[in-house]
Amino acid sequence: MSHPCLSCGACCAHFRIAFHWSETEPFLGGTVPAGLTEKLDPHRVVMRGTHSQPMRCVALVGEIGKAAHCSIHPIKPSVCREVEPSWEFGRHSLQCDKGRIAHDLAPLTPEDWIGVDGAGAA
Ligand code: SF4
Ligand code: SF4
Repeated sequence: MSHPCLSCGACCAHFRIAFHWSETEPFLGGTVPAGLTEKLDPHRVVMRGTHSQPMRCVALVGEIGKAAHCSIHPIKPSVCREVEPSWEFGRHSLQCDKGRIAHDLAPLTPEDWIGVDGAGAA
């Protein structure tokens, strides 16, 4: 069974994804492609598409709720890595639930993880 995030993508089209500009600076160890971001304030950038309506991160590929994934998964911003899918690690995630509800998707339940290989890899 595939990871639930791969048939979702809702949180990538619901929250403003803001983080320190240094995450786009390779010289400082940053990995996020600067071209996928825009300036928010003197200290922060945002993922393009997450600071305007309709909100959808430029790095999200596919159809929300059907088949979607992050095209920069291995190098995505720290804030994205901090989002936990509900019940993947045995606990509820408010961000995950909010994202899914905003896209008319039911919040995940513990049962959604039964038989899922590679939990945490989406
Ligand atoms: S963390 Fe939750 S809202 Fe985000 S893609 Fe995964 S299942 Fe969907
Ligand atoms: S960078 Fe990837 S994980 Fe983060 S919001 Fe965009 S598509 Fe989602």
